[in-house]
Amino acid sequence: MILKEIPEIFFSSKTNLPFENCIICNKKLANQKVDYFVLKSYRYYKEYDKKDVIYEMALCFKCAEMLEESYSDESNERIEKYFADNFNLKNMLKLISSNNYNIYDWIAHCACKGMHWKKTNSFHIYGIFESSKIIYFRHGPYMLSDEVMADIANLLSNQTIDSLRSLFDIYSDFPPEFRSIFSIR
Ligand SMILES: [Zn+2]
Repeated sequence: MILKEIPEIFFSSKTNLPFENCIICNKKLANQKVDYFVLKSYRYYKEYDKKDVIYEMALCFKCAEMLEESYSDESNERIEKYFADNFNLKNMLKLISSNNYNIYDWIAHCACKGMHWKKTNSFHIYGIFESSKIIYFRHGPYMLSDEVMADIANLLSNQTIDSLRSLFDIYSDFPPEFRSIFSIR
């Protein structure tokens, strides 16, 4: 596990600085020892060779756990199995063993499907952070293509989708398929 300065690609696109608060509890992230996730979703326009942020957020571990509890056991098991079967751990270990902490080498290709982000219509980058540092380890940072998100949405049970809907009514508008990326492994 290696801590580095937060790369700009994980900054808030609104402030062009690191995310300041948890999207749910509003906790200050730069303070003390706070662990959190950052997720940014991009749309890629092939015709213009241009990418745009369509969604972004930071979520502290406490709130991520709360979300996780709202998932049915069935959904959790299916998602866990999906990642166990599809996540390219070998590639992550290769980056670590070669001491390569160039963020673009970590997020250029989908961690499950292997395609480059320029081969997608949309993609999601994900990382784990501690206060003002990003953590490089065997499970991140990484990128997931839209195809993976579609697979995961299909794995969620109706019960999970219902309980997420009620949570999102309370908190914010994030889509259910994003939950997979919050799970703490
Ligand atoms: Zn929080």
